[in-house]
Amino acid sequence: MGAMIPRDKCPFCEGTSARQLYEIAYDAPEMRAYLESFYASGEGVDHAVLAGCSYQVMECPACAGLYQHHVPGDALMLELYDKWIDPAAPLKRKAGNPLSYYASASAEIMQLLSLLGKPPGQVKVLDFGSGWNEWALAARGLGCEVTVCELSETRLAHARAHGLPVIDYAAIAGAGFDLINTEQVLEHVPDPLVIVRHLLGGLAQGGMLKISVPDCDDFKQRLKRADWTAPKGSKHSLNPLAPLEHLNLFRPETLATMARLAGARTRKVPVATQLRNATHWHGASRIARNLVMPFWRNFANRKNYTLLSRG
Ligand SMILES: [Zn+2]
Repeated sequence: MGAMIPRDKCPFCEGTSARQLYEIAYDAPEMRAYLESFYASGEGVDHAVLAGCSYQVMECPACAGLYQHHVPGDALMLELYDKWIDPAAPLKRKAGNPLSYYASASAEIMQLLSLLGKPPGQVKVLDFGSGWNEWALAARGLGCEVTVCELSETRLAHARAHGLPVIDYAAIAGAGFDLINTEQVLEHVPDPLVIVRHLLGGLAQGGMLKISVPDCDDFKQRLKRADWTAPKGSKHSLNPLAPLEHLNLFRPETLATMARLAGARTRKVPVATQLRNATHWHGASRIARNLVMPFWRNFANRKNYTLLSRG
C-alpha cells in the first residue's frame, strides 16, 4: 500500500465539491485484463501495488474537469514510465513517426516564433516533459536554444545523448524562458495547477507557456458503457482517462479556470499567422486540416490548446 495517493482537492481548481462518476477496483477481472493487455509489451504489471485501490473518476462542478481520484506516487510513477511501459517502444515508435508529425511540430514552432517576434537564435525554449525529445529537437533544428525537463531516466539519457541541456524542476523558476512547451503532459501529472503556476514563474517578460492536452467531448457516455476492451483511439475507448497515466481530462472551461487562478493571460495565435506557417500541403485531409484547424482553435474554442502569459 501507499503506491497510490488520493487527491482530495480538484487538481485543476483546488475545489472540494467533486462527485464520483465511476469506480472499479484495480483487481476487478476486466481491469486486470485491461492492464495486462495495455502493458503487454513492457516488463510486466505489478498488480500487488494496486491491491485495495480503485480507479475512480471524479467530476468537479466548479471547473468541469474530470480526474482520477487516486494517482501513482513518485516511486510507482518512475516504475510505470520506465518499466511497465516497454522501454524499447520509443525506438520502434520513432522509426514509425511519419513526416506529417515533424511537419506539424515545425509549423507549430514557426507559429510561436512568429508570435514572439524574435530571431530563433535569441529564443530560449524549455520543453517540459520532453519525452523522446522529438519536439525539442525540431525546435533546435529551427534555431532555438532548447533545454528539457523530464521525469523518466531513460528519456533523460536520450536527451543527453542528443546534447540537449537538462534543467531540474526547481531551477525553472526565474530561468527566464521565452517559450515553455507542454505537449500532452499535463494530463499525466498529479497537480496540473501547481505545475502551471511554477512554469509561469519560469517565463521571461513577454514569454509564453503552451498547453496542449487531449480533448474528449463524450467521455461521460464512454464511462456509462465502460468497455475496457475498446482499443486506444476507438470510439468507446477509455484512453482519454487511461488508468495510472491520463490522470486528468480537461475541458475548455477547465483550462480557462486554471489560467484565471494562476493569474495568467490567455493568448491566441492569429489565424493569419497559423495559415502562413502551415506546412505539408500534401493530400486532401492535410489541406483540410491546415485550413480548418486555425478557425477550430480560435473561434470554436476547441482542441484544448492554449497559450498563457503572465498577467
Ligand atoms: Zn475543479
